[in-house]
Formats: sequence, structure tokens, C-alpha cells
Amino acid sequence: MKTLRSDIKKRRVRKARKERRRLVVILAAIFLMIFLIGKLTSAPEEEVVAKESINQEDATVVAEESIIQSAIQPAKQKRPDGKPTGKVVYLTFDDGPTTLTDEFLDLLKEQDIQATFFMQGINLQKIDLQENVKRATEEGHYVGAHSMTHNSKKLYDNGQFVSEMSETLSLIQDITGTNPKLVRPPYGSAPGLKSQQIRNEIIKAGIKIWDWTIDSKDWAVKDNPNQIVENIKKQTTTDIEVILMHEQLQTLQALPKIIAFYKKNGYEFGVYNDADHFYLNFQNDTRL
Ligand SMILES: [Zn+2]
Repeated sequence: MKTLRSDIKKRRVRKARKERRRLVVILAAIFLMIFLIGKLTSAPEEEVVAKESINQEDATVVAEESIIQSAIQPAKQKRPDGKPTGKVVYLTFDDGPTTLTDEFLDLLKEQDIQATFFMQGINLQKIDLQENVKRATEEGHYVGAHSMTHNSKKLYDNGQFVSEMSETLSLIQDITGTNPKLVRPPYGSAPGLKSQQIRNEIIKAGIKIWDWTIDSKDWAVKDNPNQIVENIKKQTTTDIEVILMHEQLQTLQALPKIIAFYKKNGYEFGVYNDADHFYLNFQNDTRL
């Protein structure tokens, strides 16, 4: 009797254990299902994240490839009209050298930007200003000519344009050792260079002309550098811009904001060089 009872007890204990095990298995199965359902519903989100990271990898690869490409290509790619591809702004400064030239050079150096200067013969002849003309070319800037006299009557009415520009270009060569061909006509090529004959003479002399796409009118706002910035912003409409400025104090003061504006808008800063010339003149003469 005793053994029978203990047998029954043992059987009950075994049965209870079995049921506990079954409960554990069922609970485990339920947890597993919940886990799987959760995973299934969150899958699209994870896929998006994965796609995004792939895109980022692609972008990195593309960026790396373009860095390699730009290292291989000797010159900047050009459009059919000879202009560089992408957004490029050329800062140009007329009427120097002046006592401010070194400050312009300091600022440009600080910003790691090269610019194009058009200097006037009468100023180039001042011995104390010549050191900064040389410095400009040594620091990668282009120095072109802006005539000897800056006198409209002499240049355009009396036909001194070519002789004055040639004289100015040789002065630059004497000072810097460079051999520039580019000039900026005082007051622009229109109407001064309207005559076909004078333009033929310019071509014969191997001289190139650059006007501008943006007139900053910096000379007109002596005490208001911000107005120069506004004038330039308003006229910025295309990928390639050439800005007419002068070596004046208000321009120097406006320059950091002008540079910041173009950096923000994704422009590179171009500097003229004779090998990559493209025509830019108000006479629309493609030979110049
Ligand atoms: Zn000028």
C-alpha cells in the first residue's frame, strides 16, 4: 500500500515536470514568434538604412575617382567656347600697382586664392611699387596691362592703344620676368575698340583683350564696402563670372564678403593664364 501510494506520488511529480517542460517550450515558441514578427515588420526600415549607406559609399567612390581624375588631367576641362567647366569666378583688380597692393596680396594669400591684376604703366614705373608686382606673379597671380596713360582720348581717338599696351606689357615683363599678352582696355572695349582696323592691329601685335561680366562699381562707393558686395551679388547670374574691381580701400574691405559669397555658392576662384584664354570682349570679336 505504501509502495502504491509512493508510486502514484512519483507519477504525479513526473507528470507535473512534463507539463512544466511543455509550458517552457510553448512560451519559448511564443517569444520566438513575437521576435520574428517584430523583425519582419522592421525590415523595410533597415533596408532603407542599408541603401543609404550604400549611396554614401558610392558618393565616396565617385569623389575619390574625381580626385584621381583631376590629378591625372593636366589642365582644367574646357567647354566648346574655351571657358572652363563648372562654376568659376575670376577676381580682377585694375589700376595698380598702388600702396595697397601688398594688402590685397596678403588677403588673397590668407584665403588661398589667385587673382588677375591689370596694371597701369605710369604706376609700374614707380620703383617702390615694383616689389609687389613681382610678388604678385610669384604668388600665382596674373599681371596684365591696363595702358600707360589710362587716357581715353589718347588710347581710342589718337590710336595709341596698341603702342601703350605693348609698352605696359614690356614693363611687366621687365619687372616680373613673365611674358603676359592680356590687357584690359580702360573703360572697356566698347565703344573704344569699335573700329575693325584697330582690332586688326591688336591681333597683329599678339595682344588679347578681357572686359568683364560684372561691374562692381567699387570706385563709386568710397565709404560703403557693403554696396560693392550687393552690386556683385545682384549681377551674379552665370557659371563663369569675371568681376571688374579696382585696387581701392573700400574694395579691400569688401573682399572677404565677396569671397565668402562665391565660396558659399560653389564657385572656384580662377586666375587668367595665356594658355587657357577664352574671348571676353564687348565687341564680341572671337579673335581677341
Ligand atoms: Zn582703369
